[in-house]
Amino acid sequence: MSIHENLPLIRRRITDACSRAERKTDEITLLGVSKGHTPALINDASEAGLTLFGESKIQELVRKINLCPSHLQWDFIGHLQTNKCRDAALYSRLIHSVDSERLALSLNDACGKLSIIQPVLLQVNVSGESSKYGFAPDEVLEKISQLNDLERLEIHGFMTMPPWGQEPEQARHHFRHLREIRNRAEKRLGAPLPHLSMGMSYDFEIAIEEGATLIRLGTVLFGKRSLNPKFR
Ligand SMILES: *Cc1c(COP(=O)(O)O)cnc(C)c1O
Repeated sequence: MSIHENLPLIRRRITDACSRAERKTDEITLLGVSKGHTPALINDASEAGLTLFGESKIQELVRKINLCPSHLQWDFIGHLQTNKCRDAALYSRLIHSVDSERLALSLNDACGKLSIIQPVLLQVNVSGESSKYGFAPDEVLEKISQLNDLERLEIHGFMTMPPWGQEPEQARHHFRHLREIRNRAEKRLGAPLPHLSMGMSYDFEIAIEEGATLIRLGTVLFGKRSLNPKFR
């Protein structure tokens, strides 16, 4: 199915999930995860009306930006190495994946040198899997004030990835957990942390029911990724 045919169907599923949760559709931002897809496909998606894309590798992001319409916006969603902070800050609307204190400090430094303020989300490893990046739930609450004091980072909320390969319904308690972490962090800071980036192709409707404001959809929007990860 082409993205022109598919996008309205996905938007419809978002609207339906919002109705079930008694939320407004405009509370949800759809991020098209374009990693592994060609600039040609991104151009098609742009013509179909999608304007926000997500990439998980800096080299791939930098290469694609120049080959895509200049009005598009890009979020960074992958694990960021400290030596790539400058490019991430130069090109990303929002970095979803600040996953350690060390990375936060490096990114803050890079943004200082660029004289910019970077909107970010803190990635939380809600399931505690050792293979996943992210702050532990207790750790993020312990460090939230200190991270919020970093002058060049503007913390807008949290991101998580639940365990892979489960039934969608099994992700629900992980999404709920992230929302609870957010609520507790807001109390500690006495400031709003409005964004929850959670929900991918298989579980976005459940994420919306549990409070997601940003959903990151790849496969369900664009089909199978066509570029070999080795060459991205
Ligand atoms: C690849 C990726 C996605 C999209 O995954 P799909 O299952 O294709 O929707 C979302 N978030 C992150 C962080 C990713 O790396």
